[in-house]
Amino acid sequence: MTDTRALVIEYLKQQRLLGGDSVILTENQGAGSTEQAAGSVPVAPAPGVSAPSSVLPAPGLSFDPPSADLFATDPIQRAASLEDVALLIAACRACKLCEGRRNTVPGEGPANARLVVIGEGPGRTEDETGRPFVGRAGELLTKILEAIKLPREQVFICNIVKCRPPENRLPQYDEIAACLPFLYRQIDLVKPKAILAMGGTAAQSLLNTKQSLGSLRNQIHRFRGIPVVVTYHPAALLRNPHWKRPTWDDVRIAARLLDN
Ligand code: URA
Repeated sequence: MTDTRALVIEYLKQQRLLGGDSVILTENQGAGSTEQAAGSVPVAPAPGVSAPSSVLPAPGLSFDPPSADLFATDPIQRAASLEDVALLIAACRACKLCEGRRNTVPGEGPANARLVVIGEGPGRTEDETGRPFVGRAGELLTKILEAIKLPREQVFICNIVKCRPPENRLPQYDEIAACLPFLYRQIDLVKPKAILAMGGTAAQSLLNTKQSLGSLRNQIHRFRGIPVVVTYHPAALLRNPHWKRPTWDDVRIAARLLDN
């Protein structure tokens, strides 16, 4: 198969994956590419395609809450595996969200995942199944990950709160505060190369800031030294497909951090 045909096939696959309204090409195939096989047909860049940048965004916030030491007595800090953390979550009654839950949703994925994806909190399907991101937003997340050639099974996917807020309302401050130690421990155990915070609740809670999602995008933040990329929540993309393009830019940045 010629390079150009492979390129076009890749391009069409990506269009289909991300809803068909954006043209997306990988780094060395994008609008900025000057390489073209002799005699091949040039692929026209679509309107709105940003030239791929070889420079990572500037550093942003850095949040470094203390982590467990050898003498920690808190059971969450002492949890030795993701399974142990999940058991503690299942038994947790630290906030009122436990009253309405059918299942806790600790998160899922391999303990050696290179990427941790963080959303807001379980919705109805997640509450019913005990699994994160399995509703419509989850299907879109799976497609976004496929587009960076990262099967969902290789990513640790979780949320800020591990129980469903009633009527899918935003998690409240006390609920987030009660739940964050679980997330901190999960991140400590996985030690990912990068974190993708999806949506304002995830970004603000993880980075301990009130800055808006818009102002947090386009920077590489750090949580305990691990690079954090902030992007839109998949549920927001379902409501506003115009955000798919910038989300793709963010996700590509996260993918590049995995290679380091
Ligand atoms: N499903 C999740 O698990 N988390 C979200 O934030 C949204 C849907």
